[in-house]
Parts: sequence; C-alpha cells; structure tokens
Amino acid sequence: MDRINNAKFIPYGRQWIDEDDINAVIEVLKGDYLTTGPKIREFEEKLAQYTGAKYAVAISNGTAALHAACFATGIKEGDEVITTPITFAASANCVLYMGAKPVFADINPETYNIDPDEIRSKITERTKAIIPVHFTGQPCDMDEIQKIAQEYNLTIIEDGAHALGAEYNGRKIGSIGDMTTFSFHPVKNITTGEGGAITTNNDELYKKLVLFRTHGITRDKDILLKDKGPWYYEQQHLGYNYRITDIQAALGISQLDKLERFLAVRRDYVRKYNEAFSAVEEVETPYQLENTNSAWHLYIIKLKLERLNCGRRQLFEEFIERGIGVNVHYIPVYYHPYYRQLGYNKGLCPRAEELYESIITLPLFPKMEKEDVEYVISNVKEVIQNHAI
Ligand SMILES: *Cc1c(COP(=O)(O)O)cnc(C)c1O
Repeated sequence: MDRINNAKFIPYGRQWIDEDDINAVIEVLKGDYLTTGPKIREFEEKLAQYTGAKYAVAISNGTAALHAACFATGIKEGDEVITTPITFAASANCVLYMGAKPVFADINPETYNIDPDEIRSKITERTKAIIPVHFTGQPCDMDEIQKIAQEYNLTIIEDGAHALGAEYNGRKIGSIGDMTTFSFHPVKNITTGEGGAITTNNDELYKKLVLFRTHGITRDKDILLKDKGPWYYEQQHLGYNYRITDIQAALGISQLDKLERFLAVRRDYVRKYNEAFSAVEEVETPYQLENTNSAWHLYIIKLKLERLNCGRRQLFEEFIERGIGVNVHYIPVYYHPYYRQLGYNKGLCPRAEELYESIITLPLFPKMEKEDVEYVISNVKEVIQNHAI
C-alpha cells in the first residue's frame, strides 16, 4: 500500500502489476513490433473469447472506444443519443464528437443505472442509439433496453468501462448489445496503462471499427474500391490514429489472465463492506438485481443525510484526513460548465441529482489488503457515528 508522508493513504482504486506483467512488456520491447504487431490480435482474441463476443477491437483508450462505436453506428449531426447523467463525461462526449446531441435519461433510484422507462420518455424520431452505462459494474436492465431498441430500431452501445467480468442473466457483459466499450485505465478492472476495446458480434460494425482506429485507411482487398497494385491503400473514411501498442496489448493479455482472481477479491471485499455497513442506520449499501453479477469496479455508500448533523462534504473531508481516498462518482454530466453552456439545466434528471448529493465512493481494488478494508470499515463507521443524530 502507498504511504504518503509516511501516513496511511488508501486510494479509491489502483492497478495491480506483478512480475508476469513486467516480463510480458519487456519481451515486447526486445522484439520486432512495438505497435501494429501480433500482440494486438492476440489480446483481441483473448478479450473476445472472455466476453463471449465474436470480435474485439483494441484501441487507445475507453473514450476512443466510445467514439469509434458512435462512428460505426453512423451517428451524425441532428441525431440524438440517450445516456445516463451518472457517468464519466466520455459517455456523452462521444455523441458530441459526432456533432449529435446527448439526451439524458434519469436513473433507477435503487440500482443507480439508467431507467428503461425514462429512456422511453426521451425517444424522438431523431433518436439513433442508447448508451447504457453499467455503473459501478452492475449491468443495466438489458432485457428492457433491448426491447426498446428493437421497437424503435436503435443501436445499443454499452459503456462497459466498469463492467469487464460482470454478468447479466449468466452472460458476460460484452456479448449482449450491438457494441460494448471497455477501458483499461489503471483504476479499471484490468489495465494496459491507457487502453480500451470494443466488442461486437456484428461483421459490418467490426469492419468500421477497425477502419476508424487507423485513419479510415484500409489495405484489405475485400474492402478496396480499386486494386492498383501491392502498394495500394485507400482512405475511405475520416478516421483517427487510435491504435493501441503491442507493449500495452502484452500487458493486457497478462492482466486478463488475472481478471477472475481480481474479481474474486473485489467481491469478497464487497461482502465485508456490505456486512459492516448494512448495520449502520445512516447509510444505504448498494442494491443489486438478482439476475446480475457485478464486476464491482466501484463501491458506493449513500448517506441518509436526514440522519446526520452535517453534510456530505464534512464527512468526505474527515475520511480524507484519516487517509481514506474517498471520491464521488459522478457529478451529473450536464452539471459541467461545458454542458451548461450547451443549454442543459439543473432539474433535468431529479433522481440523478438527488443521488449525487448523498454518495461517497469508498476504496475498492484487489491489491488492497484485508487490514485496509478493516481500517476503512472502522473509520467510516466511527466518523458517521460521530455525526449521527
Ligand atoms: C473510465 C471511463 C471511460 C473512459 O475511459 P478512458 O480509458 O479513461 O478513456 C468511459 N466511461 C466510463 C463510465 C468510465 O469509467
């Protein structure tokens, strides 16, 4: 565990890199390909196999994954895409990248995930896609969301940044919607430093994702409009350089081998947290739907502010003083000045706004030690008891 100024400080999340990971990276550094090499395909095949999807496309980060998925969907100016406000800004920014409009649908107050009824109420003839976010790692109500998508002919892009390893009705997240995006930032369930991926079962979408990752350029004989010779390639779309490196892919392959172990530790710590905090009258522990098995990227407690003599901020600051790296996930996306300036206003999603006022994210990551979990539990309880009415 990190010690800052010799005092205990437990961050809310961090990576776990071991000797296998380091050796996997060193091997690539000594080899022929630092990028566009065989490790990328190997990582993609492993991810596809793990999630149960037909294809995986590894990409430079989770935000690029969302951008690529919006491109493959064909989102354009004038289109609307429905997502949740309780997410990282990237889930909505990707819609703005395409010149389209993010439309925020309110959450279910129990699961904190996007509410299918709220999605229905936001559909117009301009709606092209839905971006459900499996917030904290708990899958959204995909049966209902799929029904809506079928009824209105919408594409589903799942933001699975929190949900690698999560299951819905016994199926891994990544094989359900039209596309699912993942992030391998160091706080996520596995890491490649920066990195991301999109999984899909759809051949057409797959081809577009691959093109988008490399400038919109192809050398694939099946796709080329002409064949002028062995040097010939074509730029068919306006893509980006969103490639991941073989260095990162090698780390991803090595990390993926440990994912089940990482998930088991996360779930074990969550059981400890739930057991401890369900006895505390002033907090609500996270509610889980029966047909879901969360990947537990985040553990969030909801404060019953009416039972406390202070606000969330006071508790937050006292937790930090005690070396507990708490956080708040998330500020509703449309609260940000950039979105305000686009015309989004407070009051749009009242349940999301209410949730935001009372949540705190506690540290949860597999490299956390059992004593750290105990430390968080006893200190969080003590601080809350000190402020209980
Ligand atoms: C982390 C995250 C992203 C973005 O992933 P990056 O790899 O950081 O670009 C997108 N959506 C959600 C919900 C995330 O948590």
